[in-house]
Amino acid sequence: MNQELRPTAEAIYQLILELSKLPGIGPKSAQRLAYYLLRAPEEQAGRLAEAILSVKQKIRLCSVCFNVTDSDTCLICRNDQRDRSKICIVEQPQDILALEHTGIYKGLYHVLHGAISPTEGVGADDIRIKELMQRLQDGSTDEVILATNPNLEGEQTAMYLSHLISPLGTRVTRLARGLPFGTELEYADDVTLTQAIEGRQEF
Ligand SMILES: [Zn+2]
Repeated sequence: MNQELRPTAEAIYQLILELSKLPGIGPKSAQRLAYYLLRAPEEQAGRLAEAILSVKQKIRLCSVCFNVTDSDTCLICRNDQRDRSKICIVEQPQDILALEHTGIYKGLYHVLHGAISPTEGVGADDIRIKELMQRLQDGSTDEVILATNPNLEGEQTAMYLSHLISPLGTRVTRLARGLPFGTELEYADDVTLTQAIEGRQEF
């Protein structure tokens, strides 16, 4: 390689390397994105870099529901129009985005940040179950909707939570089975997700 070009090439190589670590980005896509950014106006690349850093520096977890937020509590927890008698349990913050997009659910959320998975060594203490049980202590919740993913880990987690919550006398429901087994909530389309919320069943 031409020594003069070496630093530039190294920078592109590093960019391709970092981009290819992103989920869903293979080496080919990483290359295409890197060369796109190379040609893009400097302001555009700057805004992208800034947005990435800003997410890392400013975003934290809601002290109530563990959704992502840039203040102590998230927009949903702060919204007094929301139905505070319902809590929908999801695995990841992006699941909230998918459910909110349907516009049908008006209650609160609780983000577990994972699912119980004995094979991957994730136990009940490794996700935000303790915090959920604390939230349920004051008796203001009438219904807990288990919206964990319709796959093995999600089902195991839903089962575990159901056993834990039912004795409190709180109604426990699970999203309807319209969702194909083995998928993840964030990839479900609005229609399927709306049907799943409307058709939720006692669990
Ligand atoms: Zn919140």
